[in-house]
Amino acid sequence: MTAQRLAPFGTSVFSAITALAERHGAINLAQGFPDFDGPAAVIEAAAAAMRAGQNQYARSMGLPALVRAIAAFYERHYGLDFDPLAEVAVTCGATEGIAAALLGLLDPGDEVIVLEPTYDSYAACLAMAGARPRYVTLRFPDFALDPAALRAAAGPRCRAVLLNSPHNPTGKVLDDAELALIAELCQERDLIAITDEVYEHLTYDGRRHRPLASLPGMRQRTLTLSSAGKTLALTGWKVGWAVGPPPLVQGLQAAHQFLTFCAATPLQAAVAFALDGLDGAALDQLRADYQVRRDCLCDGLERAGLRVARPQGTYFVLADFSGLSHEDDQSYVARLMAERGVAAIPPSVFYPEHPDEGRRLLRFAFCKRMATLEQAIDRLSGSGAMS
Ligand code: PMP
Ligand code: GLN
Repeated sequence: MTAQRLAPFGTSVFSAITALAERHGAINLAQGFPDFDGPAAVIEAAAAAMRAGQNQYARSMGLPALVRAIAAFYERHYGLDFDPLAEVAVTCGATEGIAAALLGLLDPGDEVIVLEPTYDSYAACLAMAGARPRYVTLRFPDFALDPAALRAAAGPRCRAVLLNSPHNPTGKVLDDAELALIAELCQERDLIAITDEVYEHLTYDGRRHRPLASLPGMRQRTLTLSSAGKTLALTGWKVGWAVGPPPLVQGLQAAHQFLTFCAATPLQAAVAFALDGLDGAALDQLRADYQVRRDCLCDGLERAGLRVARPQGTYFVLADFSGLSHEDDQSYVARLMAERGVAAIPPSVFYPEHPDEGRRLLRFAFCKRMATLEQAIDRLSGSGAMS
């Protein structure tokens, strides 16, 4: 019964692999969610908001306290100035933000430049909007953005660039030169940019994420999306937001008001409280903690015989297993789960146009307790090498 435009996308790989991992009792390094809780004070703030009666619909574009906290956060951390009541919209996670942006800003037949590999919801939401992706492929292990491929993707129907940096699943953080290239193309071709920055605070080795909106000429043509899930380790709360110039925020809002109307009120109140308390030191600590997890997992994967592209950001790593097996990623993932009790994502699903680019890779998530990561590494490198 599924509509034709959605039938090709089947079941999300995250649901499918997590269900299999549970069946096998495997350690889930597949779906990106922490196996530790978010800050107790933030959870307490949500409970307090519920007890205080903040239990009815919120303002559709976001609870005033939260849109103010979001605007203050962008000002404090990036020097970007947004009017909280006109240039901020709160969504049910970045997932709804992406859907609302594409449905609210694109018309059928529009083309959108997308990096491949790509987060799985992009292609499905583009299909729902009747728009077409034009992929620019990033290749293991350095995932460099090819300027010629980027330019070639901007055909006459091109309306927008849908960008994700830090990038899931590669862990790539677009550098200044790559951002400048994208900014130049957007201005030359009058494209809008929709940027998914949910991993904005998870960057390593001293790198910092730079929002595309902060580049000269980009503030007026960029809709910046993010969410609280990764930064606060509260992925199940699904509180996201978009910031940008009024015409772009209004486009998103035109869809958001009819998709969900508003995100959960007490959770918005608690995220406002959390953002107000997130200073530079807290974000440095977050990055440092994740860098330790990254290195633990990457070192362990290398010891187990995989070739790792150590990520610059996000909480994912892509690793090449072709030195261990000639299988493809799907069958190797199935065997790892059954024989080793460790679940990973087969990345070919993130390459809609060039699935072969992902067939010798695995994606592992390191948003897990150190004990979980160590146990997974023991299982992967234990006796009887995988072959
Ligand atoms: N974009 C990317 C690239 C992601 O990895 C995720 C992970 N969940 C999301 C968007 C969705 O974010 P949210 O949970 O806030 O909907
Ligand atoms: N973003 C998470 C990942 O890439 C999962 C999100 C989801 O389950 N939809 O693993």
